[in-house]
Amino acid sequence: MSAHHDVPHEKTFAEDLAARTGIDVRKCYQCGKCTAGCPMVPDMDYTPSQIMRLVQVGDRDAALGSRTIWFCASCFTCSTRCPQEVKIAEVMDALREQALREKKAHPRARKVLAFLKSFLGSVRRTGRLHEVGMVMEYKTRARDFFSDVLLAPVMFLKGKLKLFGKPVKDRQAVARIFERTAGTK
Ligand code: SF4
Ligand code: SF4
Repeated sequence: MSAHHDVPHEKTFAEDLAARTGIDVRKCYQCGKCTAGCPMVPDMDYTPSQIMRLVQVGDRDAALGSRTIWFCASCFTCSTRCPQEVKIAEVMDALREQALREKKAHPRARKVLAFLKSFLGSVRRTGRLHEVGMVMEYKTRARDFFSDVLLAPVMFLKGKLKLFGKPVKDRQAVARIFERTAGTK
């Protein structure tokens, strides 16, 4: 009676992630260095190391439904600090994609995506980020006319982005970048 040996092995959450990204979260030994260096922890519901743990234990709903993956600013501090060379920032990106695909994303995702579209819209039009135009577009996309701008895009507020109003000279080059990257996401 060894029927269970014939049951095909269903990939665990961590295995599935490793197959898609080449990153093995099982190597994480919970040292907490990623969390210690992450500037976004105060806005997160789980710390980056806790997200790695959720992946290890297979808690898909908690990881994919977390605020954390949407508040991660992709600064890569965690990835550069990890002694186990776990690429945490890239994991966050893969989890965002999976959360959207499986329709498990935190409600906050809508605002972050609206912000990113506005950000890209501004860069596409001018080659640079135009603060006022982008905030107006963000508010239109996110139907977010009444919230304080300070509650809006985290990357914007953390000073990660430099803000300029004037278009760059070679706008055709910017157009080519968008043409080449179209469809890669
Ligand atoms: S720094 Fe690396 S090993 Fe340490 S908790 Fe974060 S992911 Fe795990
Ligand atoms: S990439 Fe994301 S999770 Fe990593 S340190 Fe930066 S904000 Fe934190």
